[in-house]
Amino acid sequence: MKVVLTAINAKFTHSNLAVRSLKAYTANMHYNSIIKEFSINDRKERIVEELLEEEPDIIGFSCYIWNIEYVTYIAKLIKSIDRKIEIIYGGPEVSYDAEYFLRNNPGEYLISGEGEETYREFIEYKLGEKQLEGIKGLYYKVANIQYSPGKAEVIEEKVCFNGKRELMDINKTVFAYDNTIELKNKVIYYEATRGCPFGCKYCLSSAHRGVRFLDINRVKSELKFFIENDIKLVKFVDRTFNCNGNYARELWSFLIEEKGSTVFHFEIAADLLRDEDIAVLARAPKGKFQFEIGVQSTNNETLKNINRQAEFNKIAEAVNRIKELGTIKQHLDLIAGLPGEDYNSFKKSFNDVYALGPEEIQLGFLKLLKGSPMRREAETWGITHSPFPPYEIIKSNDISYKELVILKRVEEIVDKYYNSQKFGTIIKFFLMHYKKPFDFYYELSQFFQKQGYFKRNISSVDYYKVFIDFNAEVIEGNELFLTEIIKYDYLKYNKKKYLPEFLHRVVHKEKVQNIKKSYERIHGRLDEGKVHIESFRVKVLAFRDEGIIIPGEHFYLFNDEDKDTVIDVTPSEGS
Ligand code: SF4
Repeated sequence: MKVVLTAINAKFTHSNLAVRSLKAYTANMHYNSIIKEFSINDRKERIVEELLEEEPDIIGFSCYIWNIEYVTYIAKLIKSIDRKIEIIYGGPEVSYDAEYFLRNNPGEYLISGEGEETYREFIEYKLGEKQLEGIKGLYYKVANIQYSPGKAEVIEEKVCFNGKRELMDINKTVFAYDNTIELKNKVIYYEATRGCPFGCKYCLSSAHRGVRFLDINRVKSELKFFIENDIKLVKFVDRTFNCNGNYARELWSFLIEEKGSTVFHFEIAADLLRDEDIAVLARAPKGKFQFEIGVQSTNNETLKNINRQAEFNKIAEAVNRIKELGTIKQHLDLIAGLPGEDYNSFKKSFNDVYALGPEEIQLGFLKLLKGSPMRREAETWGITHSPFPPYEIIKSNDISYKELVILKRVEEIVDKYYNSQKFGTIIKFFLMHYKKPFDFYYELSQFFQKQGYFKRNISSVDYYKVFIDFNAEVIEGNELFLTEIIKYDYLKYNKKKYLPEFLHRVVHKEKVQNIKKSYERIHGRLDEGKVHIESFRVKVLAFRDEGIIIPGEHFYLFNDEDKDTVIDVTPSEGS
């Protein structure tokens, strides 16, 4: 018997932990299971072709809000090509209204809730070692067949369920990774804890209170495996990694002591961080840890409405302390469309979070997930949501459809310009002209809309050029100064040889050679291919660091090896 466990990921760089966990949990059984991974950017027909090439008896699909439409489309095609191939679904997107889903889609089986034990028993059933009726957590179709001479006809198909399965002992799970070669350039997901102690109304994790922890020594040895195999990025799927301070600190300390270049990403509750956590984190090497922190809103009324206890001032304090360490990248989440948060309140939430200066701000939109308390309460708040996955809010008593569309555009701009961190000096220039950061991102998004840039792909150079036009039309600010700032940000992250025509370059061959020589006399030889010296008509670094505008010729040294460090090599007067 051959089972193809199929994952259709949101991005090519992602990997799927669920299918690997199922394979690992049944590795000692007498059947053949393989994993096939795709992304939602793959053509559906190609996915079908690849799956059928494996000649499977059963195909399992890992279902999430981002792939469910693909999964059902593909399942239909598979069934119309070969009815004999059986289909089993699992995952959060099919776990809630499982019976309805299975009745209305092709396929025979569906695992609701945690998958490992149910899947193992399902395989036992397929191997003739277990009765279907004894498997908890599994939905399955039973056909009522009417036999007449020479003919058997399905007159009815009903969906059966043997009841919910208890949550499993997480320490019985099996490490999901054995071969990391195929995962070298992918994000690897890892689970040390299951469950969340909190009950945010929009979140499915609120369905089961209580957290289960993997044995900490096992976690350490598994994390070592990633480090030894040189995995680039490991993301913990743990819902609140630091919900138990001792557990989190011990793992952070362990990872800090370990050598290697693997980066570890954690979702944490910043308000739970204590002095002792900061003391541990202060020892982390730069870039080893990344934190994802849910703020969602800074409006207390809204936080109360969604049953979040984290107070913004405590989050802000912790974010500032981590920022001071200068070694941990912070990604802060906001959600638009929450009950009690109108457009102006969201603007304030955005500005509050922006003021903390995290490396990334994710501006998400409320999703009314099946099975979440928020979906049940939608009517109370006048929330209308899309009937299609990911069931995003369309409007509510607090926020209109138009306002949400505006915020979508702002989100694109924030993601492109702020989160990429490649336009920092340019953004600083424009923020001088606005009362609040939101106002700038709003105006820029409106400009993009007017120019039609959201509708077509614009080149990477055009993303810089936009600012010249935006400045001319909206701000009418200091154009020469802006051009030099754009040149500075552009040179930090792009090829230095040719500048786009809208940027200004004066070639001072002899002067640059002299600067290089005198720099090398003090600091040692520069790598010709990696460094570049450029002249500017203003002192950009003074603006970057102190916000002051000083005209005059300045020379800066850019180094491809260390893009963030730009050195002022302007010769002193008279030299
Ligand atoms: S949003 Fe985060 S903190 Fe809230 S219940 Fe879900 S996982 Fe827990």
